Amino acid sequence: MIVGGGSAGWLTAGVIAADHQLPRVPGLEVTLIESPAVSPIGVGEGTWPSMRDTLRRIGVSETDFIRECDVAFKQGSRFASWSEGGGEHYYHPFSLPHGYGEADLVTPWLRNHAAMPYAEVVSCQPQLCERGRAPKQVTTPEYAAVANYAYHLDAGKFGPFLQRHCTARLGVRHIVDHVARVEASDNGDIAAIVTTAHGRIEADLYVDCTGFSSLLLGQHYGVPLVTVQPQLFNDSALAVQVPYATPDSPIASHTLSTARSAGWIWDIGLQSRRGVGYVYSGAHMSDAEAERILRDYVADGAGADAAAALSPRKLSFRPGYRQRLWHRNCVAVGLSAGFVEPLEASALALVEFSAAMISEQLPPTRALMDVVAARFNDAFRYRWERAVEFLKLHYLLSKRSDSAYWIEHRAATTVPPRLAELMGLWQQLKPSRYDFYRIEEIFPAASYHYVLYGMGFRPALAPVAERVENAALAQRLFAEVNALGKSMLAALPTHRALLNHLQSYRLQRI
Ligand SMILES: Cc1cc2nc3c(=O)[nH]c(=O)nc-3n(C[C@H](O)[C@H](O)[C@H](O)COP(=O)(O)OP(=O)(O)OC[C@H]3O[C@@H](n4cnc5c(N)ncnc54)[C@H](O)[C@@H]3O)c2cc1C
Repeated sequence: MIVGGGSAGWLTAGVIAADHQLPRVPGLEVTLIESPAVSPIGVGEGTWPSMRDTLRRIGVSETDFIRECDVAFKQGSRFASWSEGGGEHYYHPFSLPHGYGEADLVTPWLRNHAAMPYAEVVSCQPQLCERGRAPKQVTTPEYAAVANYAYHLDAGKFGPFLQRHCTARLGVRHIVDHVARVEASDNGDIAAIVTTAHGRIEADLYVDCTGFSSLLLGQHYGVPLVTVQPQLFNDSALAVQVPYATPDSPIASHTLSTARSAGWIWDIGLQSRRGVGYVYSGAHMSDAEAERILRDYVADGAGADAAAALSPRKLSFRPGYRQRLWHRNCVAVGLSAGFVEPLEASALALVEFSAAMISEQLPPTRALMDVVAARFNDAFRYRWERAVEFLKLHYLLSKRSDSAYWIEHRAATTVPPRLAELMGLWQQLKPSRYDFYRIEEIFPAASYHYVLYGMGFRPALAPVAERVENAALAQRLFAEVNALGKSMLAALPTHRALLNHLQSYRLQRI
């Protein structure tokens, strides 16, 4: 029983139903119930490349998804004004550094190319983004990539799209009704949910996808939220939808993230509009001031009239995650499990990881459910802690001193102890698999490289000369990045051209 029909609920229902080949498997049913009175949150437009695997896994056609959810391609993020506050920028692309794992790329970059941004020496993806290129050609099959990519999507269209697919193709039962209360059994499990129109509904496992209200895990079981506000201050956002100036305006194939005095602005290009929002700390800035900053940002690109016409939507959240994610026969996925902030867009990726583990480890008996629950809690507490550290890294490395917000972010008391220790280690040793050793790390060492060096962090160079073989290999890899960049720029269409093409032609299915 999935309670909640936002992106988290439908993704979880879809993964379980597709993996277990409903309705062909006897004895297993997936029902999703959503309230007619509570709308899904309707934000959450940035995804990770893992979304390609998830959509393919549940049998969605990529072309249909692109057409029906106003989708554009995302090749990573461009961070502006994070380091100094003066408009400087760096990229965190989705492609791994070219030759990553084969050679130490950092030492030769520092010795021979330090004047160039690290990401641009080890990857041609920043160039593709700067030049408005798509990550694939019209002939590249569905879900295949020339350059690694994810999506920007319209969150309001994504849930209904998944709903149609899950109910028509995957055998998910859909009930529109409000869950009024939860009935407990003697052993403490959830015995049933009690709905306004359908009465009692029983299930063996309840997946709480009720958004911030966390109806089952938070409210019924009282599992507390572990707050991360002492480390990551943002708790407010103002969101707007900005039309393009003309129908052929270029569409960025990366998320633009621009730091401001009490937070940062996301700018996400969809096919028909941009989604723009300012996420900030309510303790450091009033809503009115935040709104002025957001309007100034929009006016910069779209003009003062467009900015004046907008009515921002305010969202508030308590940054944190539940102390336990799976308790008895109830597991939380999505906002009901936690939300930290949209930086690096990890929320839907955590939904995908959760759905995959629930589906692959679906407990065959009630006794085994407690074993699976303990392992799930271990896996996801680890992921939430790593996500908090990685997000904090962006703030910790900033040299901005234009507001208390940025200065306080560097105070030792606000830094997670493990991150503080790693920062010391990374002065001498580079981030590696010894720091991130689980099979499915949420942010691998390569992501740390992009952010650390993009933000201006420079490790000490070993006093001994670099190994000759490594230097030669790195030189060859850097030259390949250059050559690859040239050939990709010549071969790839513009992002807008590919998206226009997909309105009339389909990508080849494999
Ligand atoms: C400002 C902001 C920006 C974000 N940006 C990103 C991003 O770029 N990338 C990303 O990955 N994520 C992002 N997120 C997070 C993302 O929006 C969510 O992770 C995602 O939308 C999943 O939400 P959900 O399904 O958990 O909850 P919701 O969308 O809130 O859905 C809750 C569901 O529960 C149902 N429900 C509630 N109460 C009841 C009841 N009593 N009975 C029955 N049903 C009930 C509702 O009807 C609804 O269907 C962002 C979040 C915020 C706040």
